Amino acid sequence: MEDNKITDAIDTIRANWPPENRTMLIEALTLAIGALEKQMHKKPIMKDWSPAFCPSCGKELSELIGDGYYKHWTNRNICDCGQKLNWG
Ligand SMILES: [Zn+2]
Repeated sequence: MEDNKITDAIDTIRANWPPENRTMLIEALTLAIGALEKQMHKKPIMKDWSPAFCPSCGKELSELIGDGYYKHWTNRNICDCGQKLNWG
């Protein structure tokens, strides 16, 4: 799925948000938006001399290779939490 189509879908859901008394529907839509957001590629959080982290769950996506250097798992296109990754 293309990222811009997902953004459009989320915008459409938000623009048609149900009234507050529709709690079950709101819960379902909130869950759906969360799942859709993970389908959009996001950059891992990266800083110098630090491991990379998943922008959704915070899981470390690197391994320490010594002397403060980290090898980022750039061959991973998806985190264990389902977040799609874009290493840029
Ligand atoms: Zn994650």
